[in-house]
Amino acid sequence: MTETAAVPADDLMEKVVRLCRTRGFIFPSAEIYGGFRSTYDYGPLGVNMLRNVKNAWWRAMVQQRVDVVGLDAAILGPPAVWEASGHLATFTDPLVDCKNCHERWRADKIEGVCPNCGSRDLTEARAFNLMFKTHAGPVEDEGHVAYLRPETAQGMFTNFANVLGTTRKKPPFGIAQVGKSFRNEITPQNFVFRTREFEQMEMEYFVPPDEAPKWFDYWLAERMQWYLDLGMPAEKLRLRHHEPSELSHYSRGTADVEFEFPWGWDELEGIANRGDYDLSAHAAASGVAQDYFDPQTNERYTPYVIEPAAGATRTMMAFLLAAYTEDEVGGEARTVLRLHWRLAPYQVAVLPLSKKDTLEPVARQVLASLQPHFMCDYDVTQSIGRRYRRQDEVGTPWCVTVDFDSLEDDAVTVRDRDTTEQVRVPIADLVSELRRRTGEG
Ligand code: ATP
Repeated sequence: MTETAAVPADDLMEKVVRLCRTRGFIFPSAEIYGGFRSTYDYGPLGVNMLRNVKNAWWRAMVQQRVDVVGLDAAILGPPAVWEASGHLATFTDPLVDCKNCHERWRADKIEGVCPNCGSRDLTEARAFNLMFKTHAGPVEDEGHVAYLRPETAQGMFTNFANVLGTTRKKPPFGIAQVGKSFRNEITPQNFVFRTREFEQMEMEYFVPPDEAPKWFDYWLAERMQWYLDLGMPAEKLRLRHHEPSELSHYSRGTADVEFEFPWGWDELEGIANRGDYDLSAHAAASGVAQDYFDPQTNERYTPYVIEPAAGATRTMMAFLLAAYTEDEVGGEARTVLRLHWRLAPYQVAVLPLSKKDTLEPVARQVLASLQPHFMCDYDVTQSIGRRYRRQDEVGTPWCVTVDFDSLEDDAVTVRDRDTTEQVRVPIADLVSELRRRTGEG
């Protein structure tokens, strides 16, 4: 029997950060040199989970559709792209200095009081551009300036004509991309919620202009459903429409998918109707047409764009926070990550009951039969109870135990993470039984 107690919001963040550190999900970067603020390294478990988040997105947004294709564009780009997109002029946050302690803050996040020393003696806000500027090649002059992309979206716009010309797609159709973006955030904070280097999952959906409102609503619903399908509790999610005064320079309408983080509701994903802002801007700046000729109507038009833009690293953190629970099994406390099997770092752990040589060959065979289908862990150390707890703590949905009876009956015990229920399954049926449990068998 299991009994779950809610973890207070104040403790939740600390507990999840600690679990990430101690179990190999997320390490502070360059830790042996004292760390490097706001950068993190994804460890053996974290890299699996982050990859699972991105794969789940790619599966829903590209694999299971015929109207969306993928792209992997360069991270390094010339100023011309960012000039045309408006980022050089407007991708800024309002920066203030505290005249007392000299800390710097984002003016829109601090309500006129320095969070460090409490002083109200702040400078006037000035626009601080968030893009990382560097030089490409051995000459560090203005002619060699390059930028690290602050979003993946521009790659889809600058390749719009390439994709149109090579895939036979026509509006409505989308281009999707997952990859790193970089923003020189003034105050990175809240673990991997806001970092200077992060990963995004973005899709630009090109539509006939008069269909834009319809597709905007469509993508709001699709994107909310994606989180729910991956086990995010509905009460932890909400959609918030932006006020007209909040809208970005390109937007004709934006709504955020928000998650209830321990500090309150905050953005996971922004879904925007960007109109024809980007394609028109790139057409004007490059001199290369960015439009679509519809052979059926004989009309040429610049498509409007609906953009669902999510953060992979931020979303992974939200899934971890939502999954973290503490309960009691048979009077003993345990920590469980109730992650959807698709997101868990390992789907299955194979555990030989004892280290005795007789069990090892069978356990290895069982492992080998599962590995083509599932990401598996293999653990022989310590008592079986301890090993179950360790797997619960990192979210492994199923443990497969090989015991001495297995040598006689060619069967193993499958234990469920959430119910702790154990059933005997013939080794020959194991893959199909686990497939059945994923709901995909
Ligand atoms: P914010 O207002 O939080 O700075 P934004 O509205 O500028 O974010 P977008 O430009 O819409 O963010 O980016 C899309 C998504 O990329 C965000 O919803 C978020 O999940 C992710 N993202 C943006 N900036 C960061 C960051 N510094 N660290 C981690 N993820 C980020």
